[in-house]
Amino acid sequence: MIIARTIAELKEAKSALQGTIGFVPTMGALHKGHLSLIQQAKAENDHLIVSIFVNPTQFLEGEDLDAYPRREEADRKICELAKADILFMPTVDQMYEHDELSIGAPAIRGYILEGQKRPGHFDGMLQIVMKLLNLTGADNAYFGKKDAQQLALIMQMVTNYFMDVKIIPCEIVRDEKGLALSSRNAYMSEEEKVRALCLSRSLKRATKLIMGGKLDTVSIKEEMLEVLKEADEVEYVAIVDRAFRPLEKVELGNTMILVAAWVGKPRLIDNIWI
Ligand code: AMP
Repeated sequence: MIIARTIAELKEAKSALQGTIGFVPTMGALHKGHLSLIQQAKAENDHLIVSIFVNPTQFLEGEDLDAYPRREEADRKICELAKADILFMPTVDQMYEHDELSIGAPAIRGYILEGQKRPGHFDGMLQIVMKLLNLTGADNAYFGKKDAQQLALIMQMVTNYFMDVKIIPCEIVRDEKGLALSSRNAYMSEEEKVRALCLSRSLKRATKLIMGGKLDTVSIKEEMLEVLKEADEVEYVAIVDRAFRPLEKVELGNTMILVAAWVGKPRLIDNIWI
C-alpha cells in the first residue's frame, strides 16, 4: 500500500494503476462501518483508494474540528489489511488555497435537517468530495446510508455537474446492541452509550408501528419522541420521502425516517429506509 500525503504522490501512485478504481473517502478513526465500505469497494473494483482527511470546511465554528479523533497508525493498519492500493492522507495545505472557489449546497435540501442545524456544513462537504472524486478519478465511490442527506446531496452533485463517477450507497453498520457505529461514539461514556441506543430503538419502534399498519407520520413521530426521552436533547425526528420531502403518510418503499439527538458530548444521527 502506498501512502500519499501530497497530490503529486497521489498522482504518481495512481499512474501505476490499471483498471477500475473504487474509492472510500473518510475522516479517519476507522471503525467497522468504514471497513464495510472499504471491503465492498475492494470486492467490486480492480483497485482501492481510501482517503483520510478531517476536512476543516465542513466543520462550523465551535464544532469538534480540533477534538475530532485522529488515529493514524491504527487506520493505516486497517487499510493495509484491507489491501488498499493507496491511502491518501493529505494536509490541509495540499487541499486548499487561500480564497477558494466554493460549492453551494442546494437551497432547500442543503438547508433542512442536518443543514438547518449545521448551516454551511454541506457546502464544505460537497467541496471536499468534489476535490477527492476529481483527484482519485474513481469509477465507483462508496458512501454510507448513515449520512443519508450527505449521500443524497453527493448524488445530486454528481448529476448536476455531470461527473463521471458512480456513487454506491452502503448499508448502516451497527454494534451488536443496535448503536450505529460512528467515530464520535468514542466521546461517550458507557452509561451514555446505553442511552444512545434510544435512537435505534425509536427507529425500530417506528418500523413496528408501520408494519402494524400505522402510516400517519405525526403519530409515529410522537411515539418515537417517547422513546427518545433518554437522549439529552432531540434535534429532529423527520419522516421524508427519498427526495427529502416531508410526508404525511408513510409511503412503503419511498420513506426515510431520520433522527438527530445529543447524548453526552456527541450529536448522534441515525435513520432507517422503509
Ligand atoms: P466519516 O469518516 O464519518 O466521514 O465517514 C466516512 C464514510 O463512512 C461516510 O460515507 C459515512 O456515511 C460512512 N459511515 C460512517 N459510519 C458508518 C456506519 N455505521 N455504517 C455505514 N457507513 C458508515
